[in-house]
Amino acid sequence: MEFIFASHNDYKLNEVRSIIGKKISIKSLNEIGYFKPINESGNTLEENSLIKAKFIYNKFKTNCFSEDTGLEVEALENRPGVLSARFAGNDRNDEKNIQKLLSLLKFQKNRSARFRTVVTVVIENKFFFIEGKVNGIILNKKKGKNGFGYDPIFCPQGFNKSFGEISTSQKNLISHRSIAFNKLKHLIQNY
Ligand code: IMP
Repeated sequence: MEFIFASHNDYKLNEVRSIIGKKISIKSLNEIGYFKPINESGNTLEENSLIKAKFIYNKFKTNCFSEDTGLEVEALENRPGVLSARFAGNDRNDEKNIQKLLSLLKFQKNRSARFRTVVTVVIENKFFFIEGKVNGIILNKKKGKNGFGYDPIFCPQGFNKSFGEISTSQKNLISHRSIAFNKLKHLIQNY
């Protein structure tokens, strides 16, 4: 089977390829020569994930999948969620996003949060929805320099290190995206 991954992100492409293996062909949007961004106008991770998968399926009529991820903080009623990338404004800036989140949680005792990934898969015009979650807490300050986004302030449940302090390969064993991509592998293999 062959799939287009509705993403321009090489980090995610490598992650999904390493999980799914070589038997299933996955091409990113860059690899098929489609360089335009897809308009992510949804209000939820589910909507954005579906928008991307539908758009690529309608355009190329090929099996495909998409993903959308966000950080959901309990005390902020699951914000930033779908706005995670642009929490501090329209330009993507991890540092500003982290500082905004830390200041909103300054006197907050409830630090519970989770990363949630929603994958939409289209196989032969049938749509499937997959979710991967990792629970944890938001730290009071940054720890570690690895990873990206909110990694330095997110400590996954059962660990006393932030995602910023563990290696990418360790993170990929437990992350929201790896859980979702492993479910994707299972779905494709059993289709
Ligand atoms: P995307 O939709 O996967 O690009 O994720 C949106 C935003 O969520 C990113 O810009 C990051 O700020 C944040 N994010 C997604 N996945 C992760 C992760 O694994 N670690 C830290 N932040 C993440």
